[in-house]
Amino acid sequence: MMGLFSKSKDWTDEDFRRARLNMVNNQIVGRDVKNPEVIEAMERIPRHLFVEENQRREAYDDNPLPIGYGQTISQPYVVASMTEHLIPSKDKTVLEIGTGSGYQTAVLAELFACIDTVEFVEQLSKSARILLDRMGYTNITYHVGDGLVIPGPDIKFDAIIVTAAPETFPQTLAERLNPGGRLIIPVGGSVQDLELVSKDPKGGVSFKTLYPVRFVPLRSD
Ligand code: SAH
Repeated sequence: MMGLFSKSKDWTDEDFRRARLNMVNNQIVGRDVKNPEVIEAMERIPRHLFVEENQRREAYDDNPLPIGYGQTISQPYVVASMTEHLIPSKDKTVLEIGTGSGYQTAVLAELFACIDTVEFVEQLSKSARILLDRMGYTNITYHVGDGLVIPGPDIKFDAIIVTAAPETFPQTLAERLNPGGRLIIPVGGSVQDLELVSKDPKGGVSFKTLYPVRFVPLRSD
């Protein structure tokens, strides 16, 4: 009875904060994420503001959620883990393909020098930008279109994160990575493998398969 009653009232900022700290304890620290800066960013960023109003209370659950246009906001653990694998640093640049809700973008904006984020669906890019501007992030450049070609094949990054899945690895992406850079991407059909691609200082590229994931398909023109 109490449970039912309390579910029917609106959550306060404090309720959301508590849900967020629980999420970090159980799903992030409780698994294998160790990077303190990634953990702190996940504790700080109000993930519930990146989902639709009627889904705010589910924002800290252990799964992806729909964000409209057939797309999803990634599961919190996957966001933290992918970010950690990029070895974030305040002097590195990062390219994000698939802005979506902008939640992953916020995590990157807290941990990298600057972010170029590309989104296929113009409306998603716009609403992510409005929210991230309001939150005060000034190190994000927004692009609409196909992240495999935008913002230009010759622009190189220290890190690349792709949050939609191509069937096979697009080789051209590795060419957009600086020496010493890291790229993380889901590759495959309906269930994908998360692949970590590392470029050594001499330019050699190596692949490591991490764990199975489920992302929406990467679109192309
Ligand atoms: N990181 C986002 C994930 C959104 S889902 C979040 O947590 O909210 C993946 C997003 O990638 C979708 O918004 C989809 O529209 C976008 N997308 C798919 N193919 C793309 C492409 N080729 N270039 C840029 N964005 C793409």
